Amino acid sequence: MNHFNYVAPRTLRDALAALAQPGAVAVAGGTNLLDLMKENVATPATLVDVNALPLAAIEAMPDGGLRLGALARNADTAHHPLVRARYPLLSAALLAGASPQIRNMATNGGNLLQRTRCYYFYDTGTPCNKRSPGSGCPARNGLARMHAVLGASVDCVATHPSDMCVALAALGAVVHVASVAGERGIAMADFHRLPGATPHVDNSLAAGELITHITLPPVPEGFGRHAAYLKLRERASYAFALVSVAALLDIGKDGTVSAARIALGGVAHKPWRDEAAEQGLVGRRPDAAAFEAAAACLLRDAVATGGPTPGSNAFKIPMARRAVVRALQMALQGQLTNTGELALHTAAAGATP
Ligand SMILES: Cc1cc2nc3c(=O)[nH]c(=O)nc-3n(C[C@H](O)[C@H](O)[C@H](O)COP(=O)(O)OP(=O)(O)OC[C@H]3O[C@@H](n4cnc5c(N)ncnc54)[C@H](O)[C@@H]3O)c2cc1C
Repeated sequence: MNHFNYVAPRTLRDALAALAQPGAVAVAGGTNLLDLMKENVATPATLVDVNALPLAAIEAMPDGGLRLGALARNADTAHHPLVRARYPLLSAALLAGASPQIRNMATNGGNLLQRTRCYYFYDTGTPCNKRSPGSGCPARNGLARMHAVLGASVDCVATHPSDMCVALAALGAVVHVASVAGERGIAMADFHRLPGATPHVDNSLAAGELITHITLPPVPEGFGRHAAYLKLRERASYAFALVSVAALLDIGKDGTVSAARIALGGVAHKPWRDEAAEQGLVGRRPDAAAFEAAAACLLRDAVATGGPTPGSNAFKIPMARRAVVRALQMALQGQLTNTGELALHTAAAGATP
């Protein structure tokens, strides 16, 4: 691990001033950044510990939306009554991620900015264009089971590993950031980027910007009843998604789909949404044919990568197609998740699911 300075500002103003210095990086829960530092993948000059800042609140907004503080822990967000009541999809996605201990430390801001889980990115003994631009991408002909089938480039086939971000993408969240230059909001759709020729740039944050909070807009009432987060992974728990799907449906009085949102995780450098797939469902009866058409539309440009078995991720393309269909069926039936976590936590809290 490299030598670094450590500062723990108590005000936003002081934190932004510290982050404006070259090589300064924010640390929140530390569950990703500290691992990267121990492996010499991240070598910040200064760690700006933001934990003392007043950015942990979760509050209702006058328009019916919700404001999630960047420093609210993933567990506190998932179990917050307003999140559970209005955005059950987000609770389900958060509880499908990591472990209870990690969720108690991990923050909302850190979750958005966690780095890829590509094996080559973490292994400083191998080339990686994301870690060391221009050095190459061994995943393309190597182990790519976890890797992208959509939106990849010749330089990078990494995926974004977050579960939370898949739900935020489906819900149309906005990420709010601040720096010494001022404040701005970034639509979730524009927050993470595709790798192109610059895969070392994960997102659209400018240097020195700190995430202060995330806002969730009000959504159609049906999205509360017809929400599903489906996560498919190598183990039943404590594993990153091979494929995940956040699905939301609003069903009109005539029994047809009046609104739909579908976001895919584990398949691209960012949560993957496609308006054509969602619009294609509107006005149709929510049946198998409609769901299969949406899945085919979402995966129409999918391309496999990686070496021969077990390296190839070709299996993810049919898996993702079937996952989309199943997630939409779950949403229609009001089955929020395929993972046990939400039910377990609900039972432990003595609440009614
Ligand atoms: C074993 C393991 C399993 C996991 N499994 C899953 C999983 O299944 N699904 C899943 O989604 N995640 C999973 N995670 C990832 C976990 O959710 C993230 O590590 C966590 O959300 C990061 O939050 P943090 O507060 O600890 O971030 P940190 O580690 O503190 O920071 C991460 C990055 O965010 C930046 N940062 C943090 N806060 C801010 C801010 N407010 N503004 C600007 N930059 C900021 C840091 O500079 C750093 O670059 C797993 C992690 C581990 C260790």
